[in-house]
Amino acid sequence: MSLGGHKVKVVCRVRPFLKTEKADNSVAVEANNVLRVNNPRDSTKDVKFNFDSCYGPDIDQATIYRNDVRPLVETMFSGMSATVFCYGVTGAGKTHTIQGTETEPGIIPRAVEHIFMHQERDPYDYDIRISYYEIYKEAVFDLLKPHDPTLAGLPIREDANRKIFVAGLSEKRVTSYEQFDSIYQKASGNRRTASTKLNNHSSRSHAILTVQVQWQDDISVGKTWCGRLHLIDLAGSEDNRRTENGKDRMAESSAINRSLFVLGQVVEALNTGSSRIPYRDSKMTRILQDSLGGESLGMMIVNVAPGEAFLQDTNNTLNFATKSREVVNKPVAHEVVEQRWSAADRLQHHRGAMAGRTG
Ligand code: ADP
Ligand code: MG
Repeated sequence: MSLGGHKVKVVCRVRPFLKTEKADNSVAVEANNVLRVNNPRDSTKDVKFNFDSCYGPDIDQATIYRNDVRPLVETMFSGMSATVFCYGVTGAGKTHTIQGTETEPGIIPRAVEHIFMHQERDPYDYDIRISYYEIYKEAVFDLLKPHDPTLAGLPIREDANRKIFVAGLSEKRVTSYEQFDSIYQKASGNRRTASTKLNNHSSRSHAILTVQVQWQDDISVGKTWCGRLHLIDLAGSEDNRRTENGKDRMAESSAINRSLFVLGQVVEALNTGSSRIPYRDSKMTRILQDSLGGESLGMMIVNVAPGEAFLQDTNNTLNFATKSREVVNKPVAHEVVEQRWSAADRLQHHRGAMAGRTG
């Protein structure tokens, strides 16, 4: 039961303008937990959104890791599970945040390096294993194996202890950071190949890296401890129905929208202490059930691209990600109208915004 369990922390990260983009002031971090955004439908008003933390374009990878991710990784060594999601539209900085680049490594390389440092420091023998898979149109594909387009997705099963697992998913034991990196690079190659063959689906699938650490200490004889960390680059949250209306693309879009919607519902249920957590309503939340809520820590990083061009997407993203918003007049805020939206209001608003864009 997740009642009284840990809440899912929601943090926001705004990426810098790219060289190809025209900079403007439509999105700004106002305090370390407030994001101010122009109201796209009423230019005299701004909307402010509250987060657990809010990072502007100058905040680097190391700071985000140290402040928010490192404490989660540490909990693995008390035998707990933790999950980090990056949510946002394509181009908002999810992959940069979770994976990063050679010169600006993101969460994955930092977390794995941290785990190996722990191993060197501790007296126990750690068994470190990884799995890496993606969920595309509600089907699970192993990324540690070469992409085979003839294979159907892997089934999800429940074991004798009612634990959910992905049947047939490979697990690789890693004994050094370098070994991890070479496996991970190759697997990312598998993802890219699949992506090219299937219409750039990498922005339309969820990629999940799981690192599992098992060990025995000399105090609790006979007990094997296990910590797990899931690092997830979610599918782009944009509504592809806007631009593409092929039958296949429609099915794809509704699968993405649905699984992100369920994730939002699960996070909301955990954060409001609801007794019904709809884990079973999508593949991803079902697989992550044991690592989200209860004793497990979770964090959603909401990635935002700055600028006018993304404003509607940004508003949709923020309406999805936070319950706490207020509308303020600009440039001087004489009057502050605070609105607390119910889930139904927000859904209605989101649908309205979508209809406005497609119609
Ligand atoms: P997504 O995975 O959400 O589609 P990406 O991570 O690919 O987005 O980011 C889109 C572009 O923005 C890439 O060129 C990436 O290098 C750049 N970018 C994203 N976040 C940052 C950041 N914090 N600092 C510098 N460049 C960034
Ligand atoms: Mg990406």
